[in-house]
Amino acid sequence: MSISCHTDEARRLDALHKLNILDTPPGEAFDRITRMAARLFDLPIAAVSLTDSDRQWFKSRVGVEHWSIPRIKAPCGNVADTSELLVIPDLQDDAHFRDSPLAASGIRYYAGAPLITADGHCLGAMCVLGTAPRDTAPEELTMLCDLAAMVMSQIEIMHALGRVDPISGLPNRNQFIEDFQDLQRESEDGEQRVAILINLATPAQLAHAVRAMNPRYLDELVADAASWIRAELGPGRKVYHVATTQFAMLSSSQMPIEQYTPLLETKLAQAIATVKTRFVATPTIGIVPFDLSSTDALSVLRRAQSAVQDATESGCAVALYSFGEDQMYRRRFSLLNDFGAALESSGQLRLVFQPRIAIASGACVGAEALLRWTHPTLGAIGPGEFMPIVERSRLAQATTSWVLDTALDQQLAWRNRGLVLQLSLNVSAANLLEADFADRVVNGLRRRGLPHHCLELEITESAIMEHPAKAQATLETLARAGIHLAIDDFGTGYSSLAYLQRMPADVVKIDQSFVRDIENDQRQQGLVRAMISLSQDLGHRVVAEGVENGAALAFLRDAGCDEAQGYLFARPLEVADFGRWHREQDLTQMAEDAPLLGVDGALQAVDHAFAMRAPRQPCNPATVPAPTRRRLLVR
Ligand code: C2E
Ligand code: MG
Ligand code: MG
Repeated sequence: MSISCHTDEARRLDALHKLNILDTPPGEAFDRITRMAARLFDLPIAAVSLTDSDRQWFKSRVGVEHWSIPRIKAPCGNVADTSELLVIPDLQDDAHFRDSPLAASGIRYYAGAPLITADGHCLGAMCVLGTAPRDTAPEELTMLCDLAAMVMSQIEIMHALGRVDPISGLPNRNQFIEDFQDLQRESEDGEQRVAILINLATPAQLAHAVRAMNPRYLDELVADAASWIRAELGPGRKVYHVATTQFAMLSSSQMPIEQYTPLLETKLAQAIATVKTRFVATPTIGIVPFDLSSTDALSVLRRAQSAVQDATESGCAVALYSFGEDQMYRRRFSLLNDFGAALESSGQLRLVFQPRIAIASGACVGAEALLRWTHPTLGAIGPGEFMPIVERSRLAQATTSWVLDTALDQQLAWRNRGLVLQLSLNVSAANLLEADFADRVVNGLRRRGLPHHCLELEITESAIMEHPAKAQATLETLARAGIHLAIDDFGTGYSSLAYLQRMPADVVKIDQSFVRDIENDQRQQGLVRAMISLSQDLGHRVVAEGVENGAALAFLRDAGCDEAQGYLFARPLEVADFGRWHREQDLTQMAEDAPLLGVDGALQAVDHAFAMRAPRQPCNPATVPAPTRRRLLVR
């Protein structure tokens, strides 16, 4: 063969391979044309036959058992070589084909029309075959050429419809979906497959790369990966470019799934060692076993994506899809979506209030507002589940705004009825970054004519430590405005003592995990005593959370803790129950004090007491103000 023939054949094969049609499942669009060809010629055999380097591969076939036959002495191979129509009325009479495998299998008649691409490459033939010699009418040849043209249109339409990624040259997600559907049509019930998704880099790495380099860098990363994946898989295995930096493939291997992980880990490690981007990108792989007949392509990709994220989060190179993890993420995602709707609708969200008690006097000195959500279909969902999701989203600001407005309205209503309490609200890390957060809080109080000290904001140490400098600035503005601040869940985060000392907080709330079971745990007791005295020495009042029994309360009283909150006193209460609880609490003293003070007098006395409560004097217990008057409710 001459050099130019070699290059022509190389170009022809390149054109064929770029179409990514070889070794794909049969498709109905092609089968329809093949059936039509067999019927029009009234012959038992017809095929769309593509000429690969060493074989004729049938994209679609009628009356043929095999998917491919050797290229040597195959008439379709001649059509591909010459790009011309070929008719052999009787193979036995043809000097070249008489001893071909086709003739040996009993085929006598052949007619094939070339499948020619728009840029002139012949991919193979649309052919019809018979077991008896036959003549061909000119109209039949015209029809065969028309059918070949229809096959080519179908091939080019498939290609043109955005099925190949221009950067990697690999079939894309659309093609993945279509091949998946074709595979399903061919599958038997319960047929198992495995999907493998390769993710080239974590979102953070991509963000860094895009920021530091020009867009070509990402293209190179992708092209580089496409070539090592293709080389790793070898010819005949199809890989799809399903997202910017993700490649998927389907395997029908019968290998037990547990053996997949170490195998892929080894392959990935070998591949990474050679790629240019090995220092800046961490590829991971997700594996999903699935039942071909009972799922769809996008669900498989979604599950593979979930496995990839598990791999990234766990620091492993390869992760197997986990149904439990997946369900959890799906629930989180839909909860976040639904929570956004809950904020906009009325009736799903409400606040409940848990009393806070001064240990020395036993008086209720405040209440913590806690958010409750009744989901329209899932029912009650606890803030322990939805708040961590909401706080990491853009809904954090709107949520705190809702809580602030609702709580201040409630505070106003209570004060108007003579119930005077300091109300504590939980705020999120994201709130501390809002430039106008302090202003909004102050305006909310002003609009309702509420004194600033009737509000306390609870912030966890972790929230403060997310952006310490900005948090400090916001907290200082709030403190200057006279709004009280509490460090919530103290002991569970990672704040340093330096921050604790600088925070303009009035109150430290010791997390309930330290208080639970304290009566039985001496080490815990030592820790809590140390927390109390350290916080008090720094000038903070100390509140113990999660006080559930008298023994815990007795310990806390002995350790000098200022206030307590917990089921021992009351669970978080609905608005109406809170009023009732409060009335019942101090019924006796209410009767004693009310005639003495009257509503206005009581309000003034209590406001004065609140304003005086903070700050605690650092390091000098003698100067700590006497416990607030036991009686806070006046009718
Ligand atoms: P937190 O601010 O530390 O609130 C105290 C939590 O402990 C509440 O849980 C309360 O019901 C519970 N608790 C109180 N006393 C006891 C007790 O004696 N034993 C036990 N086992 N638990 C007790 P809840 O209402 O489920 O809230 C959980 C967390 O959700 C809160 O912890 C807070 O971090 C967050 N959260 C609740 N409402 C809001 C809100 O409006 N905004 C923000 N940002 N976070 C909120
Ligand atoms: Mg709290
Ligand atoms: Mg807490």
